[in-house]
Amino acid sequence: MTDENTTVAQLRRAVQDFSAKRGWTDGENAKDLAMALAVESAELLEIFMWIHSDRADSVRDDGRAFGHLREEAADVFWYLVRICEHFDIDLTRAVCDKAEKNAVKYPAR
Ligand SMILES: [Mg+2]
Repeated sequence: MTDENTTVAQLRRAVQDFSAKRGWTDGENAKDLAMALAVESAELLEIFMWIHSDRADSVRDDGRAFGHLREEAADVFWYLVRICEHFDIDLTRAVCDKAEKNAVKYPAR
């Protein structure tokens, strides 16, 4: 599976199936999912902690740090998908609606 050959719906299904088969969706609640998303976002941020902003892109050249970044990006996506599933949010539609709203608020130059 890659971005090029996978739809958002396919990836959502994969995340939900994986989670359900491990009982992770049993008793799930919005607060815990939102907290998990925030924690995973913080773990992603932690990778850049104490790195000067001018050098933040150097994470790309550090195999260990870059691997960690990939994993935390996946974790963030994972919980975003689970929140969307929990509330039956169509993520694609939500992103498009928000882009439309932002286009009015922030017109292109
Ligand atoms: Mg993590």
